[in-house]
Amino acid sequence: MTVKVRFAPSPTGKLHVGNIRTALVNWLFAKGQGGTFVLRIDDTDLERSTKENEEGIRRDLTWLGMTWDETFKQSEKFERYRQAAEELKAKGLLYPCYETADELERRKKIALSRGKPPVYDRAALELTDEQRKALEAEGRKPHWRFKLSGGRAEWNDLVRGQQSIDTSSVSDPVLIREDGSFLYTMPSVVDDVDAKITHVIRGEDHVTNSGAQIEIFLALGGQPPEMAHMPLLIGADGQGLSKRLGSLSAEQLRNEGYEPLALLSLLSKIGTSDPVEARESLQQLALEFSFSKMGRAPARFDENELNGLNAQIVHAMSFEMVKPRLEKLAYGDQATPDFWDVVRGNLQGVPDAAMWLAVVYGGGLKGPDLEADDRAFVGDAAKLFPAGEATLETWKAWVDAVKAKTGRKGKGLFQPLRRVLTDQEHGPEMDRMLLLIGAEKARARLEQASA
Ligand code: GLU
Repeated sequence: MTVKVRFAPSPTGKLHVGNIRTALVNWLFAKGQGGTFVLRIDDTDLERSTKENEEGIRRDLTWLGMTWDETFKQSEKFERYRQAAEELKAKGLLYPCYETADELERRKKIALSRGKPPVYDRAALELTDEQRKALEAEGRKPHWRFKLSGGRAEWNDLVRGQQSIDTSSVSDPVLIREDGSFLYTMPSVVDDVDAKITHVIRGEDHVTNSGAQIEIFLALGGQPPEMAHMPLLIGADGQGLSKRLGSLSAEQLRNEGYEPLALLSLLSKIGTSDPVEARESLQQLALEFSFSKMGRAPARFDENELNGLNAQIVHAMSFEMVKPRLEKLAYGDQATPDFWDVVRGNLQGVPDAAMWLAVVYGGGLKGPDLEADDRAFVGDAAKLFPAGEATLETWKAWVDAVKAKTGRKGKGLFQPLRRVLTDQEHGPEMDRMLLLIGAEKARARLEQASA
C-alpha cells in the first residue's frame, strides 16, 4: 500500500500553530513512508473562504518546506458532491428536515431538561409527502441530514487505539444547508474516496466526526481509511493555548524571524516520547517520526522552548546561509563571515543581528549614560588606547594597561569599556568585537563617552 495523506485547511483564516502541527504530522508520516502528501483546500464555505487566506496557506507551507505532491480545492467539486448526495438520497440515507434553528434549539433545551441527550429526534423522518409539500408551500427550504445507523462505528486509531462510537448518541449530521451549500462532512469523505487517501490524520476534535464519516464512507461504497487523531496542543502552563499562542500564525512567526526548523522540530517532538531537540531538516524529522511514539496526553507548546531551539539553529547557521537575510537589514551588505562568526552565538533570532550590524558598521552610537567616576575612568582608558590599527591582541594589551593605571579589575574594568564600545551590557568576546569595530571608531566612541 502506498501511503497517501491529505492536509485539509479551510481558507477562512491563517495557518496557525495547531494547523501547522496537523500539516507536519501528515507530511512526516507520508514522507517517512515514501508516500504522497495532498493539500486540499476546504473552501465549501464560500462566504468565509478567501483567496487571500488560500494564498497565505500555500505561502506558509512553502516557507515551512512542506511542499505538496497534489492539490485541489473543494469549490471545484460541487457537481461531484451533488452526485454523491443523490446517491445517498437514493439509498434513503439523506433526508430532508424543515426545522428552523430556533425550533431545534428549543427541542434541545427540552431534551436536556428531561435529562436526555440533546440528540436530534428524527421528527423529519416521520413527515408524510403532504406535510413536506405543505412546509415547502410555506416557503420553508429543507436542510438534509445523514441517517446514522444507530450502531457502533469502530476503528483502530493509530494514536488512540480501538475506538467505538455509539452513533445513536449523536445527532444525524446535517450534510447540506437550506441554501443548498455543503457542510464539510460529506465532501471530505467524497474527496478521500476519490483521491484514494489511505490515512486521515487530524486533531482529536474530529473524533466524533469520524464516527459519522466512517458510515458515509461505507454508504458511498468506499473503504474508510486508517485514522489518527492527535491530542490537541496546550500551553506551557498546562492550560489551553494562550490567546497569543492559539492565534499565532505562521506569517507572524516568519515576521518575527523564527526559523522554520525551530518550529517544526518543536511541533514534531512535543507530545511524543522523543526528546525535544532541533533537527536540520524535515527529512530527518520524517525518519524519526512514528505514531507509536505519540502519547494521548495533550502536547505542550512552550514558547521558551521554541526560542531555545531557534537560538540553537541560528548559532549553527553558516554565513552563506544567512547572508541574503543579513543583506535585508541596515548595514547587512557590509557583513563579513567574521562578523557572523563573532555575533551568532549571541543571537536568539537572525533579526537580532540588526543591533550588532549597527554596532560594528554603523557610525556613532547613542552611548551609555556613565556615572562621573566611570566617565573619568573611560577618559583614562581613552588616553591609553593603542595607536594604529586594532589587532586581535589590542583588547588584552589595552585592558592590561588600563588595569595597571587605574587599579580597577573584573566587572568594574571591563563593563564600562564594553558599554562604551558596543552600547550593550553583554555580547560577544571583546577582542574579536574590537577587531570588527576598528580602532578609529573605538577611539571616537571613547572620546564621546568621556567628554
Ligand atoms: N477543514 C477541516 C478542518 O480544518 C479538515 C478536517 C479533516 O482533516 O478532515 O478542520
